[in-house]
Amino acid sequence: MSVPDYASLVASQRAFFLEGHTRPVAWRKTQLEAVKALFTDHHDELCDALWKDLRRNVNDADLMDVDYCAKEAAYALKHIDTWMKPLHEPMPLVFEPGYIRVNRDPLGVSLIIGAWNEPFMLVFGPLVAALAAGNTAVLKPSEIAAHCAAAAARLVPEYFDPRAVAVVEGAVPETTALLAQQWDMIFFTGSPPVGKIVHQAAAKNLTPCVLELGGKNPTIVHSSANLKAAARRIAYGRYLNSGHICTAPDHVLAWPEVKDEFLQHMKDTIREFYGDDPKQSPDYGRVINRRNFDRLAGLLGSGKAIAGGQTDADELYIAPTVLVDVAVDSPIMKEEIFGPILPVLEIDSVESVVQWVNSRPSPLGLYIFAEDKEVIDRILSATRSGDAEVNDCAIHPLFPELPFGGVGNSGMGKYHGRWGFEAFTNARGVLHHSSTVDPGVRYPPYAKHGLER
Ligand code: NAD
Repeated sequence: MSVPDYASLVASQRAFFLEGHTRPVAWRKTQLEAVKALFTDHHDELCDALWKDLRRNVNDADLMDVDYCAKEAAYALKHIDTWMKPLHEPMPLVFEPGYIRVNRDPLGVSLIIGAWNEPFMLVFGPLVAALAAGNTAVLKPSEIAAHCAAAAARLVPEYFDPRAVAVVEGAVPETTALLAQQWDMIFFTGSPPVGKIVHQAAAKNLTPCVLELGGKNPTIVHSSANLKAAARRIAYGRYLNSGHICTAPDHVLAWPEVKDEFLQHMKDTIREFYGDDPKQSPDYGRVINRRNFDRLAGLLGSGKAIAGGQTDADELYIAPTVLVDVAVDSPIMKEEIFGPILPVLEIDSVESVVQWVNSRPSPLGLYIFAEDKEVIDRILSATRSGDAEVNDCAIHPLFPELPFGGVGNSGMGKYHGRWGFEAFTNARGVLHHSSTVDPGVRYPPYAKHGLER
């Protein structure tokens, strides 16, 4: 089947943008209300699509996707008037009278490409930012969460003018064809290798882009940590959505003297959360597809399972697993796990943690479980990561008050809340200088003013 030509779609959105329809605050608010309405009116249908793709329970469907998108739009609606206010700075005295203003101007026509693990959050979250900022958007959800992509394609035309918001369904060929168009902004969520492809395509037209990528998020369990709370929060972050979460704790580095107690808490927690047989738990999901199942099942051999380890290919089930005796150079330590397997390794000093983090690609999240403030401060001040949590993990993307995004290999650019609005705007400095007063001191000939050098 041939790939459609997206030129006319982009041209229609560009014309709509240039005609000025998207700039008034009233238009933006109507669009944000539409996002809210889409996720409220079709709540059950969207939860059902998440169940079909990921066997996601309704609670977690709301947390990360359905209610999440409605809330993100509500947050933008609450703050948009403040965000849109120009910033005023004092004019230097020699240029008086006049004023300095920083406007937040929309960029124009944006392309938003999503990953499959949070299929609605990753396209409609950036869409909220794009619309609040006065842009149009073409959404390309991941083809891998097929029911969710189909639901987005079906429902978006009910709520939006296609000259403002449109969905393109498809995989690599369609995304490649979309990337060949000229955009004013590209917002991509996915893996670092595809992020590089997107960045190269953007470079051809010097298009700004935000890249929300992944990586291995180190999770430190210091000897001063509250071990029970640490285990509960780490288990929650690792096994939520079957481990398919970009901010999930990827591996634990535990102080040797507390490791066994921490592992016992992990085992107790898994039983408490998901029962003796997690396969029967209504709260425990499934791996997205056979390809990822095979990849993850292959990683189980990297260590000894002290919890979980069971698999069922027919059901795409991998039990919530904790691995010990994992070598630093084993396969599971070489790639982002992105599934319900948690290797626990030992580390015995703060400086070793600093060295561990700094000698590897910068992670999206860095998590420190400790009560010792000096330990926390030293690790935070000597390392790089997109974002960080202390005594918690994985959940920071749920806070619109926080900027969210990677650094280095885990991405570039931030969004959520105000940071999303800023990502989709140009901070346009406007110098407005009155023409009524025009002293000659800045003009040549300079000798006249004794300014000769
Ligand atoms: P992916 O990079 O394979 O795919 C992402 C998107 O890119 C999809 O829409 C896909 O259709 C498209 N795509 C894939 N290959 C392409 C190619 N060769 N050319 C053009 N487009 C292409 O990622 P994924 O498997 O969907 O998601 C998993 C990755 O996403 C993990 O690394 C995870 O950490 C990361 N992720 C990051 C965040 C974040 O916010 N930082 C959130 C979720 C997932």
